[in-house]
Amino acid sequence: MPETSKRIPKDYRSDLKPVWCAGCGNFGTLTAMTQALAELEIDPDRMIMTSGIGCASRFPYFMKGYALHGVHGRALPVAIGMKAARPELTVIVVGGDGDGFSIGGGHVAHTARKNVDITYIVANNSIYGLTKGQTSPTSSIGQLTATSPFGATDPPINPVMQLLSADASFVARGYTGQPKELRELILRAIKHPGFAIVEALSPCPTFNKAMSFQWLNERVIPIPATHDPRNRLAAFALAMEEGKFYTGVFYENPRPTYHEYKKVLEERAGRFEDDTAGIRELFSDFA
Ligand code: SF4
Repeated sequence: MPETSKRIPKDYRSDLKPVWCAGCGNFGTLTAMTQALAELEIDPDRMIMTSGIGCASRFPYFMKGYALHGVHGRALPVAIGMKAARPELTVIVVGGDGDGFSIGGGHVAHTARKNVDITYIVANNSIYGLTKGQTSPTSSIGQLTATSPFGATDPPINPVMQLLSADASFVARGYTGQPKELRELILRAIKHPGFAIVEALSPCPTFNKAMSFQWLNERVIPIPATHDPRNRLAAFALAMEEGKFYTGVFYENPRPTYHEYKKVLEERAGRFEDDTAGIRELFSDFA
């Protein structure tokens, strides 16, 4: 397709039909993602997607373009490798809350600290769906699951707060019941130079009936227009509010990316090599 051609969401879909349950929130993320990519007119040949394991991690199968469906919790290290090898490509990671914040939990903060220029969409349904309904790291206290039939006891991880702590340079939350708004957030995340994460609240009607679309509709509210996304403390305050889920951009703080630092370090290393060559030449006089 010529560079100037207008792309449509269908251009980013593979021939495979999603195997998600009827009413799964992941459909909303798929719609939002393909719309965002079409609006950005990203060439499917110039993007690559990776994921871990889980219902949301099946995402790359349903997308056109290069992709790797990896191992549980390791999507971010794979994505870093992709970006290191081919920095000119748009690298996107999609996964669930268990994959990202339990099995792969150690990778999130360090990818954020390094500020590698990748986009990470976390579909948060507060349950392990693929393995039939176990407690996940974002399950709430008291939640009834296959592994907590009398109620979960661990306080849930708040993905937004964890990412703010790691100084991720772009932190947003959307809701799959609002795909238009989610599309805008994904679009901004892809455009953001650096590590950008969007938590997508994504109901699992099969295994987490408590967190339904109706339940979320009553609790999801947009971040006030007066919020300054450069104010990390204010972002923390919004993320900590109990009983409601703010959606929008909590924090946006463009700072040098991993590749920008790498370039500077390579230049320094080059100078160091030159210096070494000069010293070697000097010493050769005494040989
Ligand atoms: Fe979606 Fe839940 Fe079904 Fe998985 S089990 S496809 S998360 S509804």
